[in-house]
Amino acid sequence: MLKLAIIGRPNVGKSTLFNRIAGKKLAIVDDTPGITRDWRDSEGFLYDQPIHIIDTAGLEEAFDGSIESRMREQTEEALKRADVALFMIDGRAGITPLDQHFARWLRKQDIPVILGVNKSEHGPAVQNALGEAFSLGLGEPVILSAEHGIGLEELYHALEPHFPAPEKPAAIAFDVDGTLEESEALDEIEGNEEFEFVETVPEVTALKVAIVGRPNVGKSTLLNAMVGGPRSMTGPEAGITRDAVSVEWTYKDREFRLVDTAGMRRKSKVVDKIEKLSVEDSMRAIRLAQVVILVLDGNIMLEKQDLIIAEHVLNEGRALVIAVNKWDMVDEKLELQQQLADRITRSLSQIRDIPIIHTSALNGRNINLLMDTVMDTFKMWNKRVSTGKLNRWLRMMESRNPAPLIGGRSNRLRYIAQIKTRPPTFVLWLSRPKEVPDSYKRYIINGLREDFEIPGVPIRLLIRTSKNPYSDK
Ligand code: GDP
Ligand code: GDP
Repeated sequence: MLKLAIIGRPNVGKSTLFNRIAGKKLAIVDDTPGITRDWRDSEGFLYDQPIHIIDTAGLEEAFDGSIESRMREQTEEALKRADVALFMIDGRAGITPLDQHFARWLRKQDIPVILGVNKSEHGPAVQNALGEAFSLGLGEPVILSAEHGIGLEELYHALEPHFPAPEKPAAIAFDVDGTLEESEALDEIEGNEEFEFVETVPEVTALKVAIVGRPNVGKSTLLNAMVGGPRSMTGPEAGITRDAVSVEWTYKDREFRLVDTAGMRRKSKVVDKIEKLSVEDSMRAIRLAQVVILVLDGNIMLEKQDLIIAEHVLNEGRALVIAVNKWDMVDEKLELQQQLADRITRSLSQIRDIPIIHTSALNGRNINLLMDTVMDTFKMWNKRVSTGKLNRWLRMMESRNPAPLIGGRSNRLRYIAQIKTRPPTFVLWLSRPKEVPDSYKRYIINGLREDFEIPGVPIRLLIRTSKNPYSDK
């Protein structure tokens, strides 16, 4: 477990951060002999990481001329026991001579130091302190608000290089196209009922959305409708240049960020050049996004280019939501709705129930529904199923429809576990992995979708040899 000492002069917010990481109930106050002040030591969590935190609070009550030396004495003790030090300063108050003195001393100590600028929720007032913070020579500061829980993700990433190697594999590396690395970690999972996949990276705060589609379908208008104001340029002209847009907005307490590669897009008279550029553009945005909204124009039937983009989204393992825009201009709504749904189901057959929302970006119609759908789809994309449940389910699937016999012998489904989310990724161990027909893989994938309610997002199923492939049991 990583041992983190929180240090800094009185009143910068050390205890507040301590309590936040420890969880108030867990905080233990413990008098360590030989030290004049209370130590606080506790174990807590920063996202998925257990952390032992050491706090050196309590000095302010005894503020007197000797504070520097006592602070140092106490900090020395704390540092001896820690792997990393978080040196906190108060961003509102700015950097004091005591901070400077302390920083100078810290730079000479043999311990990695992370600089935290706290009380940063007062944006502008903190700017000065940030500039000064760099001058302390402790690297780039992590901007925090201990009281409001801001910056914990950045703190996590700053600490990441110092986290001890996990004892058990939580997530496992594998190739995207489904050929598993010969990984011993995976062998350990087979049959291990204790295994539960744990996310190693904390959930990023902003949900990353890409809006893609052919020129002129209404992407910019849609974006404006979603964020509730004009933030990017729209116009009737296909392929109009959009200035670099980096848009963040909040919907139902969830932060969203638009992933966009605008700026690459150039006004051009050559139409097919624009088309080509916009495809490249989309491909890049898709890789960076979590959920992709593919915008279609309700007046123009689904085109090949739309399907290429949609397929690409799914192959990249991203969550897809389709917005059929300009719905206000469509006459035969019911008929078109049915036609489109059929065409999408047929063309993108690997995924069932891709969400399709009929929008009018211009009138703001169904924009909330679109946002809700993006959030729901994101949840599906993060879906996690417990190992116990999965294996009970696997027995049921096998008894209902066993894998085809190979030369008269059964191909047993041995074990299944989820090893990843985003998208949900499962490993299935069986006796003869090379001889499972695709139709049987589809049976398993569709079963996962239906029984664990994971519609509309890609599911990956990786197939692996069992440790004892020749036993029939
Ligand atoms: P310590 O002496 O360094 O342990 O500081 P405390 O955690 O006791 O915090 C000192 C004061 O700063 C308390 O009144 C806290 O409520 C306040 N405080 C802590 N963190 C923040 C913050 O992020 N923003 C603001 N505005 N106040 C904070
Ligand atoms: P982009 O190239 O995909 O970003 O498309 P724009 O957002 O620039 O929109 C292209 C044109 O379609 C503009 O003239 C928009 O006013 C119009 N438009 C966008 N959404 C709608 C809609 O829902 N209904 C109608 N009738 N027109 C729309």
